Amino acid sequence: MSTNILKTDENLHRCTRSGSLSARGPIEATGKDYQWLIWGLGRCDGTVRIMNGHQKSSPRVGHGYDLHRLEPVSPVGVGRPMVLAGCRIDHDRGPVSHSDGDAVLHAVTDAILGALGQPDIGELFPNNDPKFESMSSDVFLTKAVDLMRKNGFEIGNVDITVICQRPKISKYKPAMMRQITTLLGCDGGQVNLKGKTHEEVDAVGEGRAIEVHAVILLLPQES
Ligand SMILES: [Zn+2]
Repeated sequence: MSTNILKTDENLHRCTRSGSLSARGPIEATGKDYQWLIWGLGRCDGTVRIMNGHQKSSPRVGHGYDLHRLEPVSPVGVGRPMVLAGCRIDHDRGPVSHSDGDAVLHAVTDAILGALGQPDIGELFPNNDPKFESMSSDVFLTKAVDLMRKNGFEIGNVDITVICQRPKISKYKPAMMRQITTLLGCDGGQVNLKGKTHEEVDAVGEGRAIEVHAVILLLPQES
């Protein structure tokens, strides 16, 4: 496959914005151009690789964080049924959110986007856009994984910490880790998830919120 080196210039920006960019084979972009190329990727049939010197061949670390307020589940309150890592969690409170409020998938999505230097989940999927209302969050993570591959990276490992006072998530852990493994397209040994309480202090400790941290390592794909 031939490689197209596209340089930073306003013309390229205009091309990608107007949708007139087309290219065959991998595209290698310099500087910030890869972001524009990704936005225009739907009109290209090649892959985009980051060309910022060391970024191309070095591992990338990303951190994702999410918090959702928990309210009694509808119709008692305004909370949605609780879903974590795509698994339905039996609890009388659930997240207040525009999408399904899956804090685990939101944190992992943001960790990948952060490692890639991409806009975060709130910028890519605005919470005032009607098309994302009640959206299953696996859509967001799938998009981030797609961007990761198009940028030439694969999962090294991900470590996730879920912090909530109630419910206990231990019995859901195997199913949650299986689901994350499937969505990331990696092996089970690359995914870790642990639960913690908040020692009954602050909003999380009082059961009024849930927090998730995710740290991810992305490795350059072997060519
Ligand atoms: Zn969220």
